[in-house]
Amino acid sequence: MIHFLDLKKMNQTHEQQFEQKLKQFLASGWYVLGKETEKFEQDFANYCGAEYAIGVANGLDALILILKGYILLGKLKKGDEVLVPANTYIASILAILQAELIPVLVEPDINTYNIDPKKIAEKLTSKSKAILAVHLYGQLSDMPALAKIATENKLLLIEDSAQSHGAILVNKRSGNLGNASGFSFYPSKNLGALGDAGAVTTNDQELAEVITSLRNYGSEKKYHNQYIGINSRLDELQAAFLNIKLPTLDADNLARRTIAKRYLTEINNPKIILPFWDESENHVFHLFVIRTQNRDDLQSFLLENQIQTMIHYPIAPHQQKALSEWNNLNFPITEQIHREILSLPMSPVLTNDEVSQVIEAINKWTY
Ligand SMILES: *Cc1c(COP(=O)(O)O)cnc(C)c1O
Repeated sequence: MIHFLDLKKMNQTHEQQFEQKLKQFLASGWYVLGKETEKFEQDFANYCGAEYAIGVANGLDALILILKGYILLGKLKKGDEVLVPANTYIASILAILQAELIPVLVEPDINTYNIDPKKIAEKLTSKSKAILAVHLYGQLSDMPALAKIATENKLLLIEDSAQSHGAILVNKRSGNLGNASGFSFYPSKNLGALGDAGAVTTNDQELAEVITSLRNYGSEKKYHNQYIGINSRLDELQAAFLNIKLPTLDADNLARRTIAKRYLTEINNPKIILPFWDESENHVFHLFVIRTQNRDDLQSFLLENQIQTMIHYPIAPHQQKALSEWNNLNFPITEQIHREILSLPMSPVLTNDEVSQVIEAINKWTY
């Protein structure tokens, strides 16, 4: 069986370092907000080219804390609207709702699956205050176009970088392309911990200070509480694991791009729509997502051929039960994407032989 994502194999390459680090960790007796978190915050900020990185408990909290931070700084207020792509992973939308802001869904571009800047104008109102640009599947959104709209309309431009660690747009990385950026280090992400973890990056000192406080009960000094905060600290042991994995992120992303290049050049089945990619470093292929009109048939065919695939995601946010007030809205492009997409096996540890098998099976499929 060719696994969709073999996390165990991916982490096995670091196993000795993990074990050594765990021994040091036990010997240190320091478990929360220590040297490992500090080191990761510094190194990850440097890696992204941002002034600040603040470790938090997960990617959802990273986004919530950015929005709540801006509320405390008076740059957003309850009821303000945040533009977000309609086909994003639900977490982007939950973050906006948890911060008591209003998500305004915008259709994506059918070629890139990212928010379509041309569709934003018709959604702008006097309450629009921010764009949450989700770099879906690892490909950067059209940030120059979004930055122009943000400047013209005085909107904050926030990145959801949970799938785009390391992606580069003209010398700038994901995490340094807007006012603030939320990262997830959930185990399956391009930079994954061995449990939940996340971070915020920003060049805004005030925002960094507020979030540093908010993630730790709203206190900068122990037992002195300035804000109504939460407990969303980056776990020290997860930070230690991330410190081991961060140095290999670029090589991992290169391996993903190399596999993507093979899929893009060797899959030649006319029934399949391959992802758009300009071959620059603006894509880190968190997922390799194809489209076809007979998706479910292709998925079963591949499984019969010992190839695991997944669907990211099977149900559009506006069709989820939890968001029932949106259930009768229509987003035709988003709905088409959810009907047609399929994610092929993609990870730095996929072998050449495995990639060949996937390509061969897909090229054999007919309907
Ligand atoms: C994974 C993900 C998140 C949430 O991250 P968690 O660490 O699981 O909370 C947010 N947005 C996107 C686009 C994601 O893929």
